[in-house]
Amino acid sequence: MEFRDLKTQYQKYKQEIDSAIIEVLTKANYIGGKEVKELEAQLASYVGVKHCITCANGTDALNLVMMAWNIKEGDAIFVPDFTFFSTGEIVSFRGATPVFVDVDRKTFNIDTTKLEKAIIRTIEEGKLAPKAIIPVDLFGLPANFEEIERIAKKYNLLVLEDGAQGFGGNINGKMACSFGNAATTSFFPAKPLGCYGDGGAIFTNNDELAELLKSLKIHGKGDDKYDNVRIGVNSRLDTIQAAILKVKLSAFINHELEDVNRVFRLYNERLDGIVEIPFIPEGYYSSFAQYTIKLKSNEQRDALQAKLKENGIPSMIYYIKPMHRQGAFSYLDFDDKDFEVTNELCDTVLSLPMHPYLIEEDIEKVCNIINDFIKLQPIY
Ligand SMILES: *Cc1c(COP(=O)(O)O)cnc(C)c1O
Repeated sequence: MEFRDLKTQYQKYKQEIDSAIIEVLTKANYIGGKEVKELEAQLASYVGVKHCITCANGTDALNLVMMAWNIKEGDAIFVPDFTFFSTGEIVSFRGATPVFVDVDRKTFNIDTTKLEKAIIRTIEEGKLAPKAIIPVDLFGLPANFEEIERIAKKYNLLVLEDGAQGFGGNINGKMACSFGNAATTSFFPAKPLGCYGDGGAIFTNNDELAELLKSLKIHGKGDDKYDNVRIGVNSRLDTIQAAILKVKLSAFINHELEDVNRVFRLYNERLDGIVEIPFIPEGYYSSFAQYTIKLKSNEQRDALQAKLKENGIPSMIYYIKPMHRQGAFSYLDFDDKDFEVTNELCDTVLSLPMHPYLIEEDIEKVCNIINDFIKLQPIY
């Protein structure tokens, strides 16, 4: 069984993907070919924003926005403690300070009550200037943007949605990657919409920001790339990746997004009441980058993972370490007690195989093992 089955997906779309790649090779437009422009237009239209700017990966996408907003030393950026390293890394990379915020026990996304407290505390301390919030759509579920946008407005902060895992989700029909002042996503192969290497994109409705980002991603270009008006980086999406993504985006829209939600329901029916299953609030739709259950203790989680492995079933722990405990952030000042929920989640979560091509028989197998394990281990 595959944790995320990219092989079956390729076999299903092999003809279209192969011919899309061959077309790029034949025309030898490896950088910035028409496929990139077409993909950007399709992505912007799907998400429902004016501009989509593709780039080399999801980390660069976040970093480019930090550059465009001139985030620098002395700035405080509020980031959830339970996320992939990038979300905090790009803040420190600019010399700014990530202020980690604990997450909600049910949604795993940034806890908005604790977010507001962290902002107030930062203002009162007076050492850092609060500038922006980077909410993450963890495991495919959009963050609580209604509340986040209210808080951002109250304290005059920018919002950058990290939609690396959230692409395809929505809140009452408003798509992930359309929230905040700007949003980013990643096309890393295992993300909801993945390419065959690295890739990323930025979304915004702001014309000026879009122009600035287009310049920053190509060496701070002015009229052309040999006219350089600012210091930038080299961060482009390859034409081959864009060609692959065009095929994969239509599969994603046509059936893959619905299929992961079908897998979610099949898992839920069999695991409800046995373990803690993912919580999707009313009006929210997840793109299920992960299907993550919660066990009662660290011992129970590790024992279940071992049991699954014995039976040939891959599972992953996203994430085993909270951001604030990463060695790279040991220079920051924080109190471990402020991260009660994240600490607990890192000890107890387990992500099960999840992808659009997962068959009911395999879901059944995974759930039977979990069922038997829980019934035989009542001591936990
Ligand atoms: C994957 C991921 C990123 C980084 O994307 P890359 O394309 O791997 O650079 C950033 N944030 C989150 C939450 C992610 O899951």
